[in-house]
Amino acid sequence: MRIDLHTHSNVSDGTDTPAELVVAAHEAGLDVVALTDHDTFDGLDRAVAAGREHGVEVVRGMELSCSRQGQSVHLLAYGADPDAAVLAEEMTKVREGRTGRLRPVLDLLAGLGVPVSEEEVLAQVGSSPSVGRPHIADALVAAGWVADRTEAFDRFLADGGPAHVGRYAIEIGHGIDLVHAAGGVAVIAHPWGRGRAELLPAAFLTELVEQHGLDGIEVDHQDHDAEARAGLRALADRLGVLGTGSSDYHGTGKTDHDLGVNTTRPEVYDELRLRIRVAV
Ligand code: AMP
Ligand code: FE
Ligand code: FE
Ligand code: ZN
Repeated sequence: MRIDLHTHSNVSDGTDTPAELVVAAHEAGLDVVALTDHDTFDGLDRAVAAGREHGVEVVRGMELSCSRQGQSVHLLAYGADPDAAVLAEEMTKVREGRTGRLRPVLDLLAGLGVPVSEEEVLAQVGSSPSVGRPHIADALVAAGWVADRTEAFDRFLADGGPAHVGRYAIEIGHGIDLVHAAGGVAVIAHPWGRGRAELLPAAFLTELVEQHGLDGIEVDHQDHDAEARAGLRALADRLGVLGTGSSDYHGTGKTDHDLGVNTTRPEVYDELRLRIRVAV
């Protein structure tokens, strides 16, 4: 059983349609794949339908943009009810905040000598209901200002970068509560990737488990080095929560994140499924 619990389609900032992603998962030898687009459930029905056709089990997921101390923190939700009103409202607010930030970011980019127009960005959006930084990055690539998304983030768009503009996001503990209220299972995404270890130290992750019932920690992720993985695995074991592994596939939008590059153990997936059933 090969299980990948974190992927993106062009319904957020990936480049495959949901159906293409499922076909790619099948070709990569995956038995189970979760579609976890940012702040939207829009691609799930299409992914599930494609899964039936190609014999891939598709888990209904979503990656909720949250924050701690004003910095971005991602939360994976599995099996959350798309009709749960409060969660849906929060997701709408995040999406509106993301799209609403486009104009000010473009103004900053123009001031930095790398102008792109709103139309150039919108041409990159696929079927995503919000316009995120990766789409702005894609427009910079298309205009020839940078070679790839990574360079766009490194030079301009990363948190604290010269063209970075903050946006609305809900506090991580509150996010976990909303996912649970919607019957979902909450797993913190790549907590120690990209310099996040100081923002989300073990003591704080412990607090999220003890006070909000955080269900799991994404351990095996490309943004985690061997030491981070070992530390997170030990922490998940100690806290008795799920330790997952996944690719965070974004199609051609992220290199080194091929489908199945990290996977989740079948026992862990069984427990996760059980928790969804219990919660719903
Ligand atoms: P946004 O939600 O619009 O602020 O964009 C955040 C998204 O940008 C994340 O979900 C990642 O997929 C992507 N991202 C963040 N940092 C980088 C980076 N350094 N290189 C490529 N993609 C990134
Ligand atoms: Fe992303
Ligand atoms: Fe993420
Ligand atoms: Zn992701």
